[in-house]
Amino acid sequence: MISSAKWLNTPGLISLGGGLPCPDYFPFEELDIKVPQVPRFSPFRNGHAHEGSDYCLLRAGKHDMAEGTSMFDITTAMQYGQAHGAAQFLRFLVEHTELIHDPPYQDWSCTMTVGNTSALDVTLRMLSNRGDWMLSEEYTFVAAAEAAGALGVKTAAVPMDEHGMRADGLNDVLTNWDEKERGGPKPFLVYTVPTGQNPTGATQTAQRRRDIYAVAQKHELIIIEDDPYYYLQMDPYTGPEDSPGAAAASPPASHDDFIKSLVPSYLSIDTDGRVIRMDSFSKVVAPGTRAGWITAPEQMVDRYRAHAELSTQAPSGTSQLVLFKLLEDHWGHAGYLDWLMHLRVEYTARRNVMMAACDQYLPKNIVSWAVPVAGIFCWLRLDHTRHPRYGETSLEKIEEEVFDAIIRQKTWLMNGSWFRPDRAEKLGGIFFRATYAAAPFDQIQEGIQRLGKAVRETFKPN
Ligand code: PMP
Repeated sequence: MISSAKWLNTPGLISLGGGLPCPDYFPFEELDIKVPQVPRFSPFRNGHAHEGSDYCLLRAGKHDMAEGTSMFDITTAMQYGQAHGAAQFLRFLVEHTELIHDPPYQDWSCTMTVGNTSALDVTLRMLSNRGDWMLSEEYTFVAAAEAAGALGVKTAAVPMDEHGMRADGLNDVLTNWDEKERGGPKPFLVYTVPTGQNPTGATQTAQRRRDIYAVAQKHELIIIEDDPYYYLQMDPYTGPEDSPGAAAASPPASHDDFIKSLVPSYLSIDTDGRVIRMDSFSKVVAPGTRAGWITAPEQMVDRYRAHAELSTQAPSGTSQLVLFKLLEDHWGHAGYLDWLMHLRVEYTARRNVMMAACDQYLPKNIVSWAVPVAGIFCWLRLDHTRHPRYGETSLEKIEEEVFDAIIRQKTWLMNGSWFRPDRAEKLGGIFFRATYAAAPFDQIQEGIQRLGKAVRETFKPN
């Protein structure tokens, strides 16, 4: 882009050149935001309102910066800004990234995004060409494969196990890559959701991450680390007696303990600068903020910014201001960690309720699952060989039959087949994705009970 910014600091300069509207015409004088108090957040109470005393009021004024009362205000937030986001807020994100991931190389940098979906789209636009291939888990976040497809980038599946993407599988796909058969060059991008993967809920162990990183080094891959569920890592599930769970989980004793309990990110082991890490506020603050950030080597971040300048730019000023007020002015780093520890307790309780319901209501000779240790999803595997018409009908048909039975039970789960990057591929198994993210505890239990009925109905011998 053409930049005339170098003249803007000329003393006495009268600016008739820029295209910025006059803030006098921004019809906002004050923004009041009622937010939870730090540090004791009240537990989720199954739909009941929290006490008034649990909250406090934050106020953003139009001229707080000129008046010296805050580092960010309506005048600045609502004005055109730079694509990396307001410097005041970006600084908080850089500090947070250093605190949690401490990337082991010098020239890492962050830039704000409008969330991970967009961050992936922008990243693919800047790194790939039509006809390229990207690698992903064999079941993946649908929007990722679709974003790639829209750009003419195909997605090749890497086998998974209960710990997510397999390092040997990744190595095999790359070692045996046949350009002619695939109709495209060997991939240089691997897209992975390492924590609480969508849809399988799988979390890669620290060792798995190191093994995958070594494969990425061997095959010169760039790792796209899409990690919106990173902070939704939970306490272990010890059995149905953990349910309803709210009392069973307790927050880590200190911020240090909490940080140490988190599985290391790819960014934190990235000695080469081959990781583009994507963080989002969607799952830890609110999806409607449409805000997140990437962390990567400066050169890549610069390129990302150049793309963002011409498309999304930074997140909305309102969103940045609200997040700044909450995170920097009110909670600070310590308060934000308290909030994240609070979420850990909440999600542990939710997960425990669903696991206890699965233990109680699902026929274990047909349905199996691994207990998720992070995220919001439980991946239920149905043993299709026990279906009365197994061998006579396709897995697709059996999956559809189970789905219809679940719907008749007035419950909704997602079919596993919907999450394959290449839906033309033959289905290898029957899975359903269930989430404990939002339903009240009693509905989680009732939903799983209904699922149990639907499975028994579909799999009953004729
Ligand atoms: N990545 C994954 C793996 C997800 O599951 C989701 C949410 N469903 C997103 C990205 C979307 O994130 P954002 O709201 O930041 O675009």
